[in-house]
Amino acid sequence: MRTAICPGSFDPVTNGHMDIIRRSAALFDRVLVAVMENYHKPTRLFSAEERMEMLRRCAAGLPNVEVLSSGGLLADLAYEKGADAVVKGLRAVSDFEIEFQQALINRQLNPKLETVFLTAGSESMFLSSSVVKQVAQFGGDIRRFVPEEILDEVVARIAETT
Ligand code: ADP
Repeated sequence: MRTAICPGSFDPVTNGHMDIIRRSAALFDRVLVAVMENYHKPTRLFSAEERMEMLRRCAAGLPNVEVLSSGGLLADLAYEKGADAVVKGLRAVSDFEIEFQQALINRQLNPKLETVFLTAGSESMFLSSSVVKQVAQFGGDIRRFVPEEILDEVVARIAETT
């Protein structure tokens, strides 16, 4: 059984993340979507529990996908869970440098762990959680950027915080 981990901050999950999760679920027997709590991001819109709950709702139709969270090292989480690979989405050349560095470090920490890169879909090349938050803060329509299951929640939270 081949297990993959899709890590991220998912604050909130976007259609770009879901594209990578869906494609991973087609490639691997089991996919663990990991909400990483130690990622350095200045502000969080949703708590880790809320992000996990939203991911679970969005991935409800994917039976081999599980959602969890971790405050530790990805390489350790992969070891504990018996994961074979980390799957990351690559949007642009700017993603490459940091992802390449992380992949090499993770392999030093856990030599059996491979990192697999999937190219972003052409429709989500430009998409990030921060873009979604920025557009929503200015009242823009984020319908095409986030899964329908979480749209109202994201719009409401942005309205509360701005
Ligand atoms: P963000 O940059 O949106 O905050 P995360 O840190 O949660 O995203 O990213 C988690 C993973 O999802 C990373 O591998 C990232 O490259 C990938 N990813 C994020 N957005 C997209 C997208 N639009 N298309 C493909 N992959 C993406």
